[in-house]
Amino acid sequence: MEATKPHIALLASPGMGHLIPVLELAKRLVSHQSSKVTVFIVATDHASIVSSQLLQPPAGSDGDDLLVVLLPFIDISDMVGSGVSYVRKIEATMLRSVLFFRIEISKMESRPTALVVDMFGTDALGVADEFNMLKFVFVTSNAWFFAYALHTTEIDIKEIDEHVKNRKPLKIPGCRPVMFEDTNETLLNYPNDPSYERFKDIFIKMSLTDGILMNTWDELEPTSLKALRDTRKVPIYPIGPLVRPIEKSVLCSGIMNWLNKQPEESVIYVSFGSGGTLSIQQVIELSWGLELSQQRFLWVIRPPTEKDAAGAFLTLTNGSDGNLDYLPDGFLARTHDRGLVVPMWAPQVEVLNHPSIGGFLTHCGWNSTLESIANGVPMIAWPLYAEQKMNANMLTEDIGASIQAAAMESDGLVTRGEIRSMIRKILVDHEGRNIRARIKELKNSAAKALAEGGSSYNILFQLAEICIQHLNTKAFGA
Ligand code: UDP
Repeated sequence: MEATKPHIALLASPGMGHLIPVLELAKRLVSHQSSKVTVFIVATDHASIVSSQLLQPPAGSDGDDLLVVLLPFIDISDMVGSGVSYVRKIEATMLRSVLFFRIEISKMESRPTALVVDMFGTDALGVADEFNMLKFVFVTSNAWFFAYALHTTEIDIKEIDEHVKNRKPLKIPGCRPVMFEDTNETLLNYPNDPSYERFKDIFIKMSLTDGILMNTWDELEPTSLKALRDTRKVPIYPIGPLVRPIEKSVLCSGIMNWLNKQPEESVIYVSFGSGGTLSIQQVIELSWGLELSQQRFLWVIRPPTEKDAAGAFLTLTNGSDGNLDYLPDGFLARTHDRGLVVPMWAPQVEVLNHPSIGGFLTHCGWNSTLESIANGVPMIAWPLYAEQKMNANMLTEDIGASIQAAAMESDGLVTRGEIRSMIRKILVDHEGRNIRARIKELKNSAAKALAEGGSSYNILFQLAEICIQHLNTKAFGA
């Protein structure tokens, strides 16, 4: 008899921006495609926060179909405090995890049919080869960024120089070009950043897989997805937007109680993702901007850091004693009747889903972007690092879901006046109403893509079918 239930292994790299979509993919494979899924998580502080909250089996599924294996904690203390970027820390963690991952796979009785890793997990693809599993990479970002990243690993130094030194837009076949201002820091630091060579290796490995999954959908990025399909041999599977569902357990928290008391669409939610941090001067400008806007706000705040905009990435739980002394004198007292400042972390999906939220000042991490779209919340784009500047450009220039600071001071500072004006544009002015209408269209498009018969639904179905075919081929000894 032919087997009908594929077993798929997912390997998540550290960082909430990777872990959350991988877990959502796992749940969707179980609940919508009747697959059995084992998620391998590399133990970090982040993993321990979410493991208790996010790993519940999806409603209606057999609990045995979603298993989680926490891989041993990886010691990267040799890299801490030495100015090593968060990207290199993730890479090192993942490389050191492969051995443990292999041991887990080798001792499984029912071995997975396929392995899905995220962009930092490509070192583990050799394990899939060894055990005759299909192999896929899940890009937890969008198609435009993927096309750009792929292209930058294939071009020659002359083209990189034209873009980075002469500040010419980078042309990507079939896609919108990328402006110098939005380009990735790895490229800016080329040839001194060892990550560039490493990325080349990652992208070569990716192009030799059975497919690339992306957290986007055909209707959001038709041009970039068409370009990728036209120019690449590796199959492209846009399966998003996969965002975390609302958790009922947090709906009566203090934050939610505060939001319940605010008028509809009146609050700006301010958050820079799981790792974003600002300089002290920028925190002060932001405080003043919020105060001067005279609008309601909910601000997830982190202690300022001067050097690294990803200052809290991978270290979230170690970061703060809740001390807010760095805020301008009297700020909390003057704004207490219309603002709530929350140290370190808020239940973001629940916040964005709350009717009182009228806008999201975001660092444009891709998960935050998708969560905002899925909840129909217009954005103020304030990118910090990684691919966030491209995301901000796409949101503002291409799909009309956000506004962005027009003028930054030469030192990169967004001034209080600019902040005040952006908040008022989103919450009060006509511009905000247009963006709100546009984002409601995008919200509907996202829901349609995921519903039965929608583009992402069908593509994930195809993927599950390919895994079933592989399972049967294996079963019959081919
Ligand atoms: N997040 C959250 N509460 C916070 C900050 C972040 O729940 O206070 C979640 C957010 O909902 C998103 C993820 O953490 O799912 C951040 O991912 P994103 O890709 O937006 O940014 P990154 O953290 O990777 O920069």
